[in-house]
Amino acid sequence: MSESPDCLFCKIINGEIPSKKVYEDDSVFAFEDINPVAPIHILIVPKKHIATLNELEDEDTELTGKIVQTAKMIAADKGINEEGYRLIFNCQEKAGQTVFHIHLHILGGRTFGWPPG
Ligand code: 5GP
Ligand code: ZN
Repeated sequence: MSESPDCLFCKIINGEIPSKKVYEDDSVFAFEDINPVAPIHILIVPKKHIATLNELEDEDTELTGKIVQTAKMIAADKGINEEGYRLIFNCQEKAGQTVFHIHLHILGGRTFGWPPG
């Protein structure tokens, strides 16, 4: 499904690079972050390669909703839905995006400050 050859997360999705998979279906893939910043730190990526949120097209609306619905499901599965969790999309360098295949961070298992640093 529309891979980009040099993309780290496309390689994780296709199994070329190993990951700790949390969930997969025909449109999304979720796996544990290699450098967790919270007791629960999971990334949800679309199988379709989209570099940043700026590249989202109208046809991706259902897919982006699916990513959030998947986060909700995983949060419940991990037992952090009632206490609370944080979802983050970083877009471009200034926001902290380092991998250019969109991904939703699910962070949970501790208290988070606001505003973020
Ligand atoms: P960003 O900074 O782009 O929002 O998030 C990228 C995330 O990908 C970071 O939290 C980083 O720890 C994670 N990451 C980078 N390389 C790998 C990898 O090879 N495997 C996994 N599982 N996570 C990675
Ligand atoms: Zn990709």
